Amino acid sequence: MSSTTIAIGAHVDQTDPLAEARERGAPLVQMFLGDPQGYAGPEVAYAGGAEGLRADAEAAGVDLYVHAPYIVNVATTNNRIRIPSRKLLQKHVDAAAEIGAKGLIVHGGHVNKADDPETGFDNWRKAVEATDLKLPLLIENTAGGDNAMTRYLERIGRVWDAISSAEGADMVGFCLDTCHAHAGGNDLTTVVQDVLAITGRIDLVHANDSRDEFDSGADRHTNFGQGRIDPDLLAQVVRDAGAPVVCETPGPAEAHVADFAWLRERL
Ligand SMILES: [Zn+2]
Repeated sequence: MSSTTIAIGAHVDQTDPLAEARERGAPLVQMFLGDPQGYAGPEVAYAGGAEGLRADAEAAGVDLYVHAPYIVNVATTNNRIRIPSRKLLQKHVDAAAEIGAKGLIVHGGHVNKADDPETGFDNWRKAVEATDLKLPLLIENTAGGDNAMTRYLERIGRVWDAISSAEGADMVGFCLDTCHAHAGGNDLTTVVQDVLAITGRIDLVHANDSRDEFDSGADRHTNFGQGRIDPDLLAQVVRDAGAPVVCETPGPAEAHVADFAWLRERL
């Protein structure tokens, strides 16, 4: 795929994501719907509400992506987290579908340190079966977390094995985060091919530089060229994945525009 066909956007504030897209000249943006750290919500902050946002985004030619709250952990063995997580996930699926989003991104989650990861894989299967997926659910790789489901490739493979038999599995895709892959200890020279061999698809790339070293397990994004990821390698991942790109790098808009240019130069 040639560089000009890869759409590049950013994670933006949810109040007026279309104004944010305009400010950055971006054909796509990602946002939260409500509090990313709490069980309240989702809510649509846009003045025109969900229907207005859907119509205005369509008219503007801007693709919307929604990032689920960080607290969602459908893999955990802890009922008091897993059950509210599933409910919150369904609510976000519904809300994201209402605004016409192209995908809902959710972290792979984790089980507790002493838990058998097998339980987590099966909990993922159950979550997919229990959720009415009205739009693609994009499971994202994570940088760290004790007993994480999607930090290492082997675990991503086990999650995929588990969910492949679930009804609705065709609506589950993958979001590859470059910072998380690097800090999580996955070789960026092969990560795209490795993930594709497991999932068969990469629906979205979260392009981020990493403030931390390879395999550090730390999740701290930074603007391109200011972190520890080799610039050519970062561009190679984006190029090879060939999917739309969301930069979850620090703003404001000018910083995102600079990141877009940095990336385009290298694609
Ligand atoms: Zn991400």
